[in-house]
Amino acid sequence: MKSYTAFRAERTANKTTCAATLEQFLSTIEAKNPTINAILTVNATEARVQAAESDKRFQDGTARALEGMVVAVKDNISTKGLRTTCGSKILETFVPIYDATVIERLKSAGAVIVAKANLDEFAMGSSNENSAFGAVRNPVNTDYVPGGSSGGSAAAVASEMCHTALGSDTGGSVRLPAAFCGTVGLKPTYGRVSRYGLVAYGSSLDQIGQFGESVEDVALLYDALNGHDERDATSSHHTQQHTLTALKKPLPASFVVATLPDEQLAGCDAEVMRVYRETLERLKTLGAKVITHEMKYMSAVIPTYYIVATAEASSNLSRYDGVRYGSRKIGADGEVTTETRSQGFGAEVKRRIMIGNYVLSSGYYDAYYTKALKVRRLIYNDYKAMFKDADVFLTPAAPTPPFKIGEKSADPLAMYLADIFTVSANLGGVPGISVPAGTSANGLPIGMQLQANHFEEEKLLNVAYHLLGK
Ligand code: GLN
Repeated sequence: MKSYTAFRAERTANKTTCAATLEQFLSTIEAKNPTINAILTVNATEARVQAAESDKRFQDGTARALEGMVVAVKDNISTKGLRTTCGSKILETFVPIYDATVIERLKSAGAVIVAKANLDEFAMGSSNENSAFGAVRNPVNTDYVPGGSSGGSAAAVASEMCHTALGSDTGGSVRLPAAFCGTVGLKPTYGRVSRYGLVAYGSSLDQIGQFGESVEDVALLYDALNGHDERDATSSHHTQQHTLTALKKPLPASFVVATLPDEQLAGCDAEVMRVYRETLERLKTLGAKVITHEMKYMSAVIPTYYIVATAEASSNLSRYDGVRYGSRKIGADGEVTTETRSQGFGAEVKRRIMIGNYVLSSGYYDAYYTKALKVRRLIYNDYKAMFKDADVFLTPAAPTPPFKIGEKSADPLAMYLADIFTVSANLGGVPGISVPAGTSANGLPIGMQLQANHFEEEKLLNVAYHLLGK
């Protein structure tokens, strides 16, 4: 993987240029993308202009925070003039007329947007096999999935097609692919990074996250993107946070790591458990005091998430009616909406819309949706209780190492269980990060997840930095 921090030092010392670095990334995309399928649209012309501008800035001494950082952006984030498909046939030809806030902030910090990254259709999935434009393959071993739904973003970083990438995380879609591809992946606190211009999936859960080779690169990117945005009504009013200055500070003499009791980890693969125990030992040598916190509602997190997420998705996706966006299909009888949606959406998206409509229907609303909201509150309260006693919370990022392409695609429930350790952070709104922590016997990456209390990204990144050592 290519570190932006290392590139920046070399560029500052005049040992390389942004233009040359960009050309390297573009040729890697050309060589590897036919197999990996991480990229849906390459933005070469505009990226070359941006890279030349960055080289000038370095020469003038006016380099900005992300100057010359080459970024891939998940294709559910709106980019003005650049196709944004959401991995769906229904938006195959859609070209937005405005930039998402994160894109504006990337550009004004000097980043170079090289490409739009493949994803599970509308960010629904855990393996990146649900894209209308084909599955993404894990760069470490192409027989395996890269994790989803931001699989293209993670695979692009891991296969050296860019320095860093943006993804979206509704229930783990940044942390899971980061774990499967061996990159760092951060999901900030809900509301920290503006969702304006992120195509909505589950609006009360969605958050834009950052991928990179190191915690340092991720922190740099996060610092440039977070902060209030008046165009996102759920954006937090906290001022922009700068974690980088505190990143390398020594850890406090005594910090507390919460873990789950062994019974709540019983479903995990043995290799994941081995890496988990090694990580715990490492945290202890860094000074951690370890406590056990039983997550009281652990058995309810997956059902609660899949009720809330599908309910919100069924509402958010009702805007794709063939009238306003993307492709339009007209049936034999002249009908537009049903025909457009039947042809435009893939099987998983249709499944989610149907579940969402069911749990919101008048007969079942209280039994499912209202109940799920109550459990969601209990999960939130449980986090609050945990973080009274603990600074961070350690779990595996996923219960298994990466699985083979096709292994779980016929069994949606088995697929949904891949999210067991990640969805609670979205239900509770807390930040989480996945850090590469080891490998399986067949050489595939295994990631560990740290979570912290709301708005404690600084602490979270500080611990993650020391754990990974970069
Ligand atoms: N795998 C989860 C889902 O399919 C999470 C997706 C996400 O975070 N976007 O809903």
